[in-house]
Amino acid sequence: MGREMRVKKTAAGQPASPAAPLAGYAEYLRDAGVMEIWGPESFRWAGMKQRGEAYPGLGDVHTLDALRDFIGDCKRCKLCNGRTNIVFGAGNPDAKLVFVGEGPGRDEDIKGEPFVGRAGQLLTDIIEKGMKLERSGVYIANVVKCRPPENRNPEEGEIAACEPFLKKQLQLIAPKFICTLGKFATQTLLKTKEPISLLRGNWREYEGIRLIPTFHPAYLLRNPGDKKLVWADVQKLMAEYNGED
Ligand code: SF4
Repeated sequence: MGREMRVKKTAAGQPASPAAPLAGYAEYLRDAGVMEIWGPESFRWAGMKQRGEAYPGLGDVHTLDALRDFIGDCKRCKLCNGRTNIVFGAGNPDAKLVFVGEGPGRDEDIKGEPFVGRAGQLLTDIIEKGMKLERSGVYIANVVKCRPPENRNPEEGEIAACEPFLKKQLQLIAPKFICTLGKFATQTLLKTKEPISLLRGNWREYEGIRLIPTFHPAYLLRNPGDKKLVWADVQKLMAEYNGED
């Protein structure tokens, strides 16, 4: 038997508000398993996520500078408590390639720039010595934009709070390629729990953009023997990047 669409009604049998039929329809869709939809405000009453509108007004942001202004002195998750600076992201706003890491560390927090510590130097070497690209020619961002205390892993709620900003950055830059660095960036964008050891080096797709995961440079500092695996991933990426022109 099909599901019935519920519409909240007054005692007189009229819809409780002009938007009540829409809210009822949204509930009906949600019960049928639809999780995300383009739609008006009333759809949110049914707990549905609106594309591009994770935060009111985010859908009206059309440049990276405007996005940084929108984020403001963000207090949308508890990582705001320990940060020195929000690390928004850096690089070419028209980059063909975006690297996505996990979150700022101590050096990044102090300087307000992504990947500037030891792991950052390794990433710069990968980009400039390995890929023969300028670091300023690519874009670098993180899943969470504030430093987790003691460099702990970001929690699910923190990732969920900050992810809309990363999604928006990727939407605005519209790169041809994304290289995710490590477990959190990869699992967040691909919506998977598969381990990075299985995901790395395999082409995937994120919102129509080709995505290749590899290990995080901080992991490589602890496990230098795996540099050869990252080198293999980078060669795969460059073969497509160079063939794309
Ligand atoms: S991590 Fe993201 S959501 Fe949380 S306070 Fe920082 S900018 Fe805001």
